[in-house]
Amino acid sequence: MEHVERVERITMAHGAGGTVMSELVKRYILKHLGGSNAEVPLEALDDAAVVNGIVLKSDSHVVKPLFFPGGDIGKLAVTGTVNDIAVLGAEPCALTSGFILEEGLLVADFEKIVQSMSETCREAGVYVVTGDTKVVEKGSLEGCVINTSGIGRRNQALERNIVEVKKHRRFDARWLLDSSLRPGDKIVLSGTVGDHGLAVLSSREGYSFGSQITSDIAPLNKVILRLLEVGGIVAMKDPTRGGLSNALNEWSEKSKVGILVEEEKIPIREDVRAACEMLGIDPLEVGNEGKIIIGVVPQMAEEVLVTLKHTREGKNAQIIGEVTDQFKAVALQTIVGGKRVLTPPIGDPVPRIC
Ligand code: MG
Repeated sequence: MEHVERVERITMAHGAGGTVMSELVKRYILKHLGGSNAEVPLEALDDAAVVNGIVLKSDSHVVKPLFFPGGDIGKLAVTGTVNDIAVLGAEPCALTSGFILEEGLLVADFEKIVQSMSETCREAGVYVVTGDTKVVEKGSLEGCVINTSGIGRRNQALERNIVEVKKHRRFDARWLLDSSLRPGDKIVLSGTVGDHGLAVLSSREGYSFGSQITSDIAPLNKVILRLLEVGGIVAMKDPTRGGLSNALNEWSEKSKVGILVEEEKIPIREDVRAACEMLGIDPLEVGNEGKIIIGVVPQMAEEVLVTLKHTREGKNAQIIGEVTDQFKAVALQTIVGGKRVLTPPIGDPVPRIC
């Protein structure tokens, strides 16, 4: 009898951030590479790890095309790693950059990519301090791949945030982890979803949807710092591959709670919504590169929301739902009335966007 999961070769879905990738990670990577006694270990499958008090993250970037509306692979390489460190509540300190370049790549394009990394580093307040450069024969990959790793550290804002959480409820974690949500917590989304994936897809395929859809790509560490200063935040995550749907399901699974989301509160740009409808894609499953979801104690949710709305990156923020103990899944209260279970995507409907 054939079994869907018994895959013998790697498929695109294995890198798409959904359940197929999660299965690969658990079955092979955790099995052979797990077992450390890190404070936040590989087994947590969180946005980053914590070892000896240092937050550590590694991220490879394979976006196609290398340049897309609103950004490029260089901006992505810095943003992806900075945001994964920042959502743990840490302050990013330094990055590494491993370039794998394809023979034939225009040197002028390479310079544009490195300049874009430099601008994004300046925006985030970090530097690349070490790295590596390799070249592979023409035809091995499409232009270039960049691996960016980074380290981050605790700061006073995280400490104060946790003090504020503890005024309202019990909180045992030292970082903002996927496993820390409890019934009653509110879920804040920092802005519109689907922009990045649709921007990359439309530039790759040459689609035109009337207006040009631009990526939301942005380093969010400075916004996150302001939110931590408000306080009351228990968890944070960037809904990248697999989109909002996958990120909420990871929270539900790791925190062992239900999450109820109101569909009408989820901000989606009109052009993104129309493009998704035309292509038969669910915008909740499309990856974002400049958005965060925030779990916050109910007493501080409004204050966090207002602070977020005063930033450029968070002006469309909304409280989209709350954590519940009534069920153990992610449920969507639909616009037409009634609830439906929001299952995690099998793979991202738009591959190679990060
Ligand atoms: Mg992440």
